[in-house]
Amino acid sequence: MPSPSVDPKIAIIGAGLSGLTLALALHQRGLTNITIYEGRNESLDIGGAIMLSPNALKVLDALDIYARLRPLGFEFESLDFRQSDNTPVDTFEFGSFIKYGYKALRVYRYEIIDILHELVREKEGITIEYGKKFARVISEERGVTWEFSDGSEASASFLVGADGIHSQVRKHIYPDLEPRFTGAIGVTAAVPTAQLNLPTNYSTPVTIMNREHGAFVISQQLRDGSECLIGKQRRFQTDLSKQGWVEMLENKDWCIDFLREGAENFPDLVKNAVSDIPKDKINLWPFYVVPKLDTWVSRGSRVVILGDAAHAIPPTAGQGVNQAFEDVYTFAGVVAALSKKGELHQTVLAEGLRNWQAGRQVRIDKVLELNGMIDKRRMPKAVSEGKEEEEIGEFELTWLYDVDLEQMVVQWAAPKVKSWNPCSLFR
Ligand SMILES: Cc1cc2nc3c(=O)[nH]c(=O)nc-3n(C[C@H](O)[C@H](O)[C@H](O)COP(=O)(O)OP(=O)(O)OC[C@H]3O[C@@H](n4cnc5c(N)ncnc54)[C@H](O)[C@@H]3O)c2cc1C
Repeated sequence: MPSPSVDPKIAIIGAGLSGLTLALALHQRGLTNITIYEGRNESLDIGGAIMLSPNALKVLDALDIYARLRPLGFEFESLDFRQSDNTPVDTFEFGSFIKYGYKALRVYRYEIIDILHELVREKEGITIEYGKKFARVISEERGVTWEFSDGSEASASFLVGADGIHSQVRKHIYPDLEPRFTGAIGVTAAVPTAQLNLPTNYSTPVTIMNREHGAFVISQQLRDGSECLIGKQRRFQTDLSKQGWVEMLENKDWCIDFLREGAENFPDLVKNAVSDIPKDKINLWPFYVVPKLDTWVSRGSRVVILGDAAHAIPPTAGQGVNQAFEDVYTFAGVVAALSKKGELHQTVLAEGLRNWQAGRQVRIDKVLELNGMIDKRRMPKAVSEGKEEEEIGEFELTWLYDVDLEQMVVQWAAPKVKSWNPCSLFR
């Protein structure tokens, strides 16, 4: 006889955007025995504001986050690309109320995190433990047991690694894998929009490209657009240690020089942008990627990675965090659909998770393909020499923004295991 049903305990490592949103998505689907373990004393707040596209906003809407978030962000529909003399190159759609039901939203990460915390506090059955740094999985027999860096141990039916690009949980599945430095960095800051003296009808976000000095990004933020992110991305050959990057970020004068370098080769608004840079909102973003992984699920099917831990991708199409939101929503849907009376059937779940990961990888691959197409189109003419000029037109992005995640959940969760043996349940 199986024991009386209790909710399986689900442990999430990392209280970042993926981890917190995952807890809410699982809870909404009726799984209510969730503990989030965060290594820091508070959730990670890096990089200022982020851009959210309709595929992610749909998830945030379904989880009652969007209505609280929208009033805090700057809405826009597209990103412009220009040459260094300000000539328009092309426009990349990032949202559309008419086509997808949502404009894109640029909002500070801490605002999202605050709302996620607020919502988590309102739910019974989600606990967050801070200062608990996951170290290693001890066993995957009858549940999963792991150790924290303070030497303490914990167990659950299931462990999800939402611990970001440098994931320690990933080491359980890929002990030797390290993220790869792409050889490019970005430095950003925030200045009052008025300082730029933008020409009339000049639309942001805009990326102004200069072959020699990199790409300069300008993006209005805050609800009223009164603040501008300014940022520059360019090649940087040296891969530094974690401490090395921290020291570089702490050297605010170096960061300001990086932003100012070559400004005279850009339009006046860039010169205006870098004329006075406050030191308090400077960020440094070394671009790392996680190589394509064969699986995001451990051999015992009790440990799963998602978000940046599973697929940190280049920022080209702005899909990093947006894809993470797709992960967590569909993961919660599949797990909930395959849990019966609060218990998780190991074999059925393992198959559902394989389907989920394969389906999610298809989406990630398409985003990577899109990144490649964008890069190719923006390549300076001299570099694409000899190849036929691609016709400039809009990218077809309906597949990305108008996604039916519920349908995907139904498809991925359809169990193909015929017999449902209650003796092999996750508890
Ligand atoms: C400067 C910058 C700007 C960005 N801008 C954008 C943008 O505009 N649009 C976009 O789509 N993406 C953007 N990204 C990428 C985006 O931030 C990531 O895709 C996103 O944060 C991934 O979320 P995550 O929750 O998976 O990981 P993270 O945000 O990295 O969160 C991981 C969490 O796990 C915790 N953790 C780590 N290790 C452990 C451990 N061992 N034990 C316990 N807890 C642990 C961390 O402290 C953290 O709270 C940006 C990134 C940076 C660095």
